[in-house]
Amino acid sequence: MRRAILPAVLLAQALAGVPALSGASGAPFPALPSPASAQTGLLAELLPEAPFPPSPTGLPAAAEPATAPHPSGPRLAAVAASGRAGPICGKRRIRGERLAPIPGRLQGCGISAPVRVFSVSGVALSPPAIMDCPTARALERWVRRGVRRTIGSLGGGIDGLRVIAGYSCRTRNNLPGARISEHGRGRAIDIAGFTLRNGEVLDVLTGWNDRRRGRLLKRLHRTACGPFGTVLGPDADRYHRNHLHLDTARHRGGSYCR
Ligand SMILES: [Zn+2]
Repeated sequence: MRRAILPAVLLAQALAGVPALSGASGAPFPALPSPASAQTGLLAELLPEAPFPPSPTGLPAAAEPATAPHPSGPRLAAVAASGRAGPICGKRRIRGERLAPIPGRLQGCGISAPVRVFSVSGVALSPPAIMDCPTARALERWVRRGVRRTIGSLGGGIDGLRVIAGYSCRTRNNLPGARISEHGRGRAIDIAGFTLRNGEVLDVLTGWNDRRRGRLLKRLHRTACGPFGTVLGPDADRYHRNHLHLDTARHRGGSYCR
């Protein structure tokens, strides 16, 4: 697997994945369940890194606290497979729904053929996320080959991905004048944790440096390098301490993973 060493400037530009709190802002569709409402979206996009007020830990506020196993209920994937979700993007293993084209409010934003993905390879996205089909296919490939194999039968196996950002029309790191984030093109997804069937959550923020779970999370990060063109985690910078940023941007030197 090739890994590119990029100059610092390019590196800074590559760090596209500040966790977006604005969900599907910019989209003419019902917003994903997220803390930020539509009216805060544009403001957030224009303010430099304002969405992250200082927290006691100095971390972005997107992550939920480490969770104890939740009471058993219907499996996430079973829920995700019900209702409107059917096969999309030409793959049986990708369940979701097609959406109308999303025009971006900022130049360079938007998705011409967006989909809302509920599950890939039997693993639920919680909440479902909007992206384009190449990104949905990369996600499916990673979950089937990387996530399923890495987690194996631990906790009964993988059940769901905790998603904190999918499509979001904004610039990189929310800086005015910066290039549009891959999130603004529907090519990126941020994952804060992995839910097992027994309810345990492998949480990126609390688990990354944990002796028991850290190795597993780092392996999950590594297996995304290849299916995705950019993979950023807690070792990349402070913006990624609570999630994995995965996007399908292609770099000349191959996948950029850190
Ligand atoms: Zn991201």
